[in-house]
Amino acid sequence: MKRIQLLSTRLANQIAAGEVVERPASVAKELLENAVDAGATRVDIEVEQGGIKLLKIRDNGSGIVKDDLPLSLSRHATSKITELEDLEAVASLGFRGEALASISSVSRLTLTSAVKGQSSAWRVQTEGRDMQPVVSPSAHPVGTTVEVRDLFFNTPARRKFLKTEKTEFGHLEEVVKRLALSRFDVSFNLRHNQRTIHQLKAAKTQQEKDRRVAQTCGPDFIENAVCLDVESAGMRLWGWVGLPTYSRSQADLQYFFVNGRVIRDKLVSHAVRQAYRDVLYNGRHPTFVLYLSVDPASVDVNVHPTKHEVRFRDSRTVHNFLFSTLHHALAEVRPGDQLTSASSQPVTDNRLTATSKPAATGASAGEFQEQEQIRFNQPASSQSIFGGQPSMPTQQPTKHQVAEQLAGYGKLAEAADEIIAAQSGPSMESVEANNEPEIPPLGFALAQLKGIYILAENQHGLVLVDMHAAHERITYERMKQSYQAEGIKCQPVLVPESVAVSQREADCAEEFQTLFTSLGFELLRMGPETIVVKAIPSLLKQAHISQLVRDVLSDLIEHGTSDRIQAHINEILATIACHGSVRANRKLTHPEMNALLRDMERTERSGQCNHGRPTWTQLSVAELDKLFLRGR
Ligand code: ADP
Ligand code: MG
Repeated sequence: MKRIQLLSTRLANQIAAGEVVERPASVAKELLENAVDAGATRVDIEVEQGGIKLLKIRDNGSGIVKDDLPLSLSRHATSKITELEDLEAVASLGFRGEALASISSVSRLTLTSAVKGQSSAWRVQTEGRDMQPVVSPSAHPVGTTVEVRDLFFNTPARRKFLKTEKTEFGHLEEVVKRLALSRFDVSFNLRHNQRTIHQLKAAKTQQEKDRRVAQTCGPDFIENAVCLDVESAGMRLWGWVGLPTYSRSQADLQYFFVNGRVIRDKLVSHAVRQAYRDVLYNGRHPTFVLYLSVDPASVDVNVHPTKHEVRFRDSRTVHNFLFSTLHHALAEVRPGDQLTSASSQPVTDNRLTATSKPAATGASAGEFQEQEQIRFNQPASSQSIFGGQPSMPTQQPTKHQVAEQLAGYGKLAEAADEIIAAQSGPSMESVEANNEPEIPPLGFALAQLKGIYILAENQHGLVLVDMHAAHERITYERMKQSYQAEGIKCQPVLVPESVAVSQREADCAEEFQTLFTSLGFELLRMGPETIVVKAIPSLLKQAHISQLVRDVLSDLIEHGTSDRIQAHINEILATIACHGSVRANRKLTHPEMNALLRDMERTERSGQCNHGRPTWTQLSVAELDKLFLRGR
């Protein structure tokens, strides 16, 4: 047995570096967080060879006074907390006081800094096994520059784990993006191998923030996202959530910040997944940039060295708040909302004015007018329909398994007729003449294409609707509603099924008895580790009951809630809805089509079908013009 010895300072720091310094990106994270903690409003990041050769971060923050410089590079030295209690409400991103020491033990690090009122700048670096800090005079404006060269030059084993320059830079860029998303008030410039990669100006207004999100997450995201900002029970959730139809094959556009700190958290992803459950295509991942503010004392950030995880003191409340806020936000998305957000783009705006007021000057406007007339005159036969005759020559009673379903639409169509009649004219020209945009968001039907799509005209141009998908969603939402309203029907099982569970799960089943009852289950505890299912919701006859009960219990234990039963019931309702919805090749009359459009506007989540595919899309006049090279 060898004798016990104290580790040298450098070796101890190198071991500590193992936890936080994995690659250039992790160095960048620590240095950027320090800059932001120092109150910087501008941060410049210079990278060479993916950050392996050089990573230089310069900020205009408070700087470090000369006497503190030696300390800044030693372990367990921080200006951010002084006692344990401070940890309870830590507002800075760093607090462990070991990042600089760790990084400097595995690279060639120099830190140069100047503070206000001090005559010159100073530079510090460490030398030898003991990492003796050496301070020398230098030149620097107020603020700090940390230069890290040759990462892992003295730890070859670590260096071997580094990937290509491109991959390492990719990780590093991601770190910059995350911080840029968490601090809109700071401007960030990122250069790689002498090329500018990102120039992100500080963002104050909503528009500037949108812009930064577009710059970091791509313009498509912003165009397909809704904004939300909800406050409740001392918590606030705000940010952008991607529409269900804008999902991704990977969970790579998901940013969640808790009190300004980016985190990956099981509770959060569970709540988000649950909120999207009903609207997302199988296997796809939702997109979001979300900010949660909570009382700092209600969240523990000191769970993991990289601080990517947090622990909420009251995780149930947080889960519920996240789920219900997002669930609502997604349900609220109606065709109209998307259009308003689309119309806020200046290009579309101009075009809109041109279309809705064809009297505008210029030859092209004249041309428009003609086109408009051609378009409006086309469905001349439809006038008789609007007049109240429900049958159309084209309407053939083919494949009419769904005649009943459509009968419902017939009634709604009458209501639509009235609305249209009230507008004192069968066509939209009169509506436009009134100069009041009374056209509903999804407009009025023009025709049906191939028995699959409804073509409609609204304010912005052409609307295309997948009629089966749309009808399916509407039927489904209605069934869910009436199912809820009537209460879930419960049915005793012939042979009570006993389920073996853990003691904790059995306790949980007892604790949540009322929840189970409200969902149509009757559970009875038969022993320390046995529960018996005596009754189930009648809709779930075919389901694998014991598996479902077990899954629900494990959800309840982990998150305090579970929507599995509801999800299962919903799945069955969705299947019924699918079979009960208009099939392709079913000819619809104009009133039927219009009624469907009005229903879509009224129905929650109608922007996507039950499988998360879009139910409709808009082709604006501007886009159509582009197709025909008009106005160039
Ligand atoms: P921590 O951030 O956990 O405090 P670090 O090792 O990252 O630990 O930094 C040590 C200390 O050095 C910080 O507490 C801070 O006082 C100072 N410091 C580091 N970087 C900067 C910077 N860019 N500007 C001002 N002070 C800094
Ligand atoms: Mg730090």
